[in-house]
Amino acid sequence: MSYFLFLTLFGVLNCLPIDDDDVIIVDSVDLNSIDGVEEYSIDISGLDQLAFGIPKNESGVAVSEWTDSSLMNPEEMGEYLEGDILMPGLARNGIRDKTSRWTDGIIPYVMDGGFTQEQKDTIRKAIADYHRLTCLRFVPYNGQKDYLIIKSSKTGCWSSVGRIGGRQEVNLQSPGCVTKKGTVIHELLHAIGFMHEQSRPERDDFVTIKYSNIKPGTEVNFKKSEAKNTDDFGVGYDYNSVMHYSEYAFSRNSQKTIEPKISNSKIGQREGLSRGDVKKVNNMYNCKKDVPMTTESNDIDTGKVTNTPPTREPQAGWLGSIWQSIFGDKKIDPEVTEK
Ligand SMILES: [Zn+2]
Repeated sequence: MSYFLFLTLFGVLNCLPIDDDDVIIVDSVDLNSIDGVEEYSIDISGLDQLAFGIPKNESGVAVSEWTDSSLMNPEEMGEYLEGDILMPGLARNGIRDKTSRWTDGIIPYVMDGGFTQEQKDTIRKAIADYHRLTCLRFVPYNGQKDYLIIKSSKTGCWSSVGRIGGRQEVNLQSPGCVTKKGTVIHELLHAIGFMHEQSRPERDDFVTIKYSNIKPGTEVNFKKSEAKNTDDFGVGYDYNSVMHYSEYAFSRNSQKTIEPKISNSKIGQREGLSRGDVKKVNNMYNCKKDVPMTTESNDIDTGKVTNTPPTREPQAGWLGSIWQSIFGDKKIDPEVTEK
């Protein structure tokens, strides 16, 4: 029994979010060139029709009622697909089933008006985390063809998935979506190319969806992605991902809608990127940057990242999840790039 407590404790420690004290600053950027359009593309063919439409004022009203003590995260309150995925102005026509990664990991951006100095600082801190932990570079917009405009219209928190080409909006309604740094990181991670963690094909091995507590009409937000449309970039299911729903997402009765199968596991954190998030971004963008380690876990998981997503045998079930928490993914990365 005590052995399992030990394992669970190790699992929890290994999943702590990375905070600023744990961060290793790496000056050099080592970004490989990537050849081929296919390799750059992000499959969005699995997105529901709901992801295509226009920003909604109703979502803004809901998010305006969000406070730091709300049960759910503000990006789970929108009327968009999964709460915050919106490809505005695009039609689902069967042709647009792919978006792109950002060329060379460079993301031109501009902040529109409407943010206080403090809120701008929150956005800058989110961007600084990407700069410290990944090879992505957010650069000031200077006439580039493709760029992000970060706005604060009263339509909630939302973003497209991946680079869609041209001017691309990320909306962070103030103050709800710019109260926590993790919310900003979450929306930017959509724009970088990622979906929600609990929509992974294998999620039922790790969480239980309580359909009886879900607000009627929002069940579609709990749909799983099909394996053929997703790439886990060699990273196992991550309760601590900043892309995971909170326990009360889309609840109709303040009861939990999603519950981890390992008791005491926390989901829905919006403090910052998890180690798994960092690994996924770096694998998607062929970045050979080390993932910093927490002091508690530095002898458990090497945290090294190679530029090739490794093959991995998923560790299914709660025992497998504990295994993953302790030993990381079942893989050996022989090639390690030192910073
Ligand atoms: Zn989201």
